[in-house]
Amino acid sequence: MMSYRLRKLPQNARQLYETILGMSNIMDKYKDPLDMNTVLDTIDLASIYENVDKRERENGPHSELQYDDLVVKELLHYFKNSFFKWVNKPECPLCHSESNVVGLGGSRFSGSSNPDQVSVVENYQCRECNSRIQFPRVNNPVSLLKTRRGRCGEWVNCFTLILRAMIAEDRDRVRYVWNMEDHVWCEYYSYGLKRWVHLDPCEAVFDEPLLYCNNWNKKMSFVIGYNDNYIIDLSSKYITDSNQIDKSTIIPSLKQLSRFINAINCNKLLRYYKCLDTASQDEKLTKCYNDVIVVLNRELLQLKDHKVTPTMTQELPKGRQTGSSEWTKERGEDGN
Ligand SMILES: [Zn+2]
Repeated sequence: MMSYRLRKLPQNARQLYETILGMSNIMDKYKDPLDMNTVLDTIDLASIYENVDKRERENGPHSELQYDDLVVKELLHYFKNSFFKWVNKPECPLCHSESNVVGLGGSRFSGSSNPDQVSVVENYQCRECNSRIQFPRVNNPVSLLKTRRGRCGEWVNCFTLILRAMIAEDRDRVRYVWNMEDHVWCEYYSYGLKRWVHLDPCEAVFDEPLLYCNNWNKKMSFVIGYNDNYIIDLSSKYITDSNQIDKSTIIPSLKQLSRFINAINCNKLLRYYKCLDTASQDEKLTKCYNDVIVVLNRELLQLKDHKVTPTMTQELPKGRQTGSSEWTKERGEDGN
């Protein structure tokens, strides 16, 4: 029904709505208890906890940050510096360099089985030795625990799985965040700070939602957050007035978008209700109200009051740090 109505919309609006709808259950990718165990078997827990202990000793007595906030900070650091690798272009396996490698374009993955959920395969050639090199864009977060490389999509996909395994388990406190101008990041709910906190795993940045507008000078239209239990328009949290792309060039009315999001959230609530294993209907309804409706409304109020935007505490560099300078400039993320 929803997809039938979407076909009648202008191209930009259709693209926005179809993406939101298609991603609405994205957090299901990070739920399997077996995958959670794989994470814990893969990452270096000893060194992570050793560094968390160090952070705890340095954390002042009046700090609002609790132990698991320090775990998140350490995970960002570990993930960027010891675990995952950024790929501009893949290295030539013979010359061990990427400087002579040129892109030949991408092709759709074609194979009978696709356990790594590869969407596109990028093709390259080395000008020095003529080797052909393929870079498959992997979407399975568990496979990424092994391949450990990619661009922001792979980084956030794998980091979200690790974050979930380390702090959330089955609680709805980790979310995937999508920006229409081709960037993704994530957030978690901090019990210490009593709000959702921005995390950019590619840059190892903690709680700086204005990073994209203020430091990268990125122009953005929409930012949407995807939880287990609801989705939410986070545009006002991440986009400053001066960097806001005129929303009316994309959708005919903002009311229409909020109705669309509400409709998806109703479906998600129904799904939550059906999965509850408590006996009585009253208990189920109370749980739906307390676990989802109250939580969502509280966050919507916080967003409205702008209580979620912290002051810039870190001296962050201008422009995006990951990716080559040509690439960041082309994407309008170099801070100029
Ligand atoms: Zn080569």
